[in-house]
Amino acid sequence: MNAAALQQELQEVEEAIRTTQDAAARTLLHRDAAYSAMDLGDFPMAMTHAVTGLDTARTTHDLSLQAKAHVTIALVMAEVYDDQGAGKHFHEAEDLSRLARDPRGVALANVNASHYEMERQQYEAATRRLQDLLHSSYSSGLIIPDPRVGPELQQSFHVNYVKSASRALDSRADFGAREADVQQQLAQSVAFLQELYDGRRPLAMPRLLPEVLDALASDAGYRQEWARAQAFADERVELTQLGGIDTAIGRALHSRAELAAQRQDWAAVIRDATKAAQLFGEAGQELRAVDAWQLVADALAQQGQDREAFRVQRELTSRAAGMYRAFLQQSAQLRLIEQQAQAAEVRAVAMAEAALRDPLTGMPNRTAAMQRLHTMHQSAAQGRVSSAALLDIDHFKSVNDSYGHAAGDEVLRAVAAAVQGAIRDTDSLARIGGEEFLLLFPDLDAQEALGVCERVTQRVAQLSWPELAPGLRVTVSIGVADVLGTETASDTLRRADQAMYRAKAAGRDTVLAAP
Ligand code: GH3
Ligand code: MG
Ligand code: MG
Repeated sequence: MNAAALQQELQEVEEAIRTTQDAAARTLLHRDAAYSAMDLGDFPMAMTHAVTGLDTARTTHDLSLQAKAHVTIALVMAEVYDDQGAGKHFHEAEDLSRLARDPRGVALANVNASHYEMERQQYEAATRRLQDLLHSSYSSGLIIPDPRVGPELQQSFHVNYVKSASRALDSRADFGAREADVQQQLAQSVAFLQELYDGRRPLAMPRLLPEVLDALASDAGYRQEWARAQAFADERVELTQLGGIDTAIGRALHSRAELAAQRQDWAAVIRDATKAAQLFGEAGQELRAVDAWQLVADALAQQGQDREAFRVQRELTSRAAGMYRAFLQQSAQLRLIEQQAQAAEVRAVAMAEAALRDPLTGMPNRTAAMQRLHTMHQSAAQGRVSSAALLDIDHFKSVNDSYGHAAGDEVLRAVAAAVQGAIRDTDSLARIGGEEFLLLFPDLDAQEALGVCERVTQRVAQLSWPELAPGLRVTVSIGVADVLGTETASDTLRRADQAMYRAKAAGRDTVLAAP
């Protein structure tokens, strides 16, 4: 696929994001957009989509979805060699998946993390990671298919296992007591891939086939079955050439060059690696280009072409320095995008909290109280006892009239604090109107709440304001009602309100329960 087609694809996904309401669907679209942007080499764009995806996922409270969004961020960071940042997000993804008891999420995070370890040639670490996953209680996650991509995860697991284990064993990694385990699993995973290759098992997606071939070639190379290895490598090169994606062709040629190096066929190494390096260079994949040129330089040296080898090597050194600066710059830029998204998230949380708070007293407001009352009704329907009480300050208008509005405000704050101090932490207080408050008592019925409210009226009556309003005595009237599973929140409020008005009529500074 060429750049114009990729650009087109990205624009279509962005359009879909604008027209999709469902947050979960939008999260996955942001992931798709991040992948397209990465294919285009536009990493800031990829990062912007990745972090927006996480923000969107957070609004759903779906931890598994948030975990997926973290995996996307990790992959973008890994792509610009911010290993630390990538590691952090892979961890987040794994933790969230464990919290959500989502074995598929744990497996997804680990299979992706193993992929990026392999890119760094950390084959032993990748093998150990996959082996640990296999022996954990989350291994079942590997065989749970995704509705969108089917058994892709399971197939990627076996691809990654074969690649990492065969390369680790080939370079004499020491697995100690686990060596037999690794050998056995390698054989099983190879058998699995062979079924995919033979068509006995359907491929989850066509673009896995070159990876399957790469893994099988790598295993054959480890077993020194050169003819088989060569056949797989050749098939992969042909397949990617048909596909027409330059970087995929480059990777196929690079692997075949590595295989040739194992066989010490230096002419073949130089031919494939040079072509791969050119393709990577044209695609702007500098690091891969440098790796390929390195293969070329080594092969030239092995052939005794020292002058030529030296020339390539010198070219490499200067490229590597420029590339290092570019990567540092790029990963710093992506970190900045991540940080800005985090700051926006903090602001959004603060705003959401502020929307549920009364600015004068700092107490929860009517919206927050109604949410809680609604939840209590749901619990009541399941048999849980609870009650609610409406509290209204007596003759509050005259406080304003005699001492001024500012003094009235101060009285509101002091009353709120006194009430809060008289109830338990598990109870809650909210300001739901001018001088009206709602008290919620989970686990107490109206009769028991009555006792607490008596204590509340006493505390309020004891307040004094020697400087602000000398001689002022403030009292409150309270109406209490049981929260009944058969009623709605407004029924409860109405009954508490009626009880409160009877308390006013009974002379104020009084608590009454609804019948
Ligand atoms: P009752 O004992 O019957 O409840 O008499 P009341 O005077 O308390 O009741 P009323 O509803 O007549 O008056 C409530 C007053 O509360 C009127 C309004 O100015 C005052 N008020 C409402 N919100 C605020 C506020 O935020 N600050 C101040 N200072 N006063 C407020
Ligand atoms: Mg009132
Ligand atoms: Mg009042």
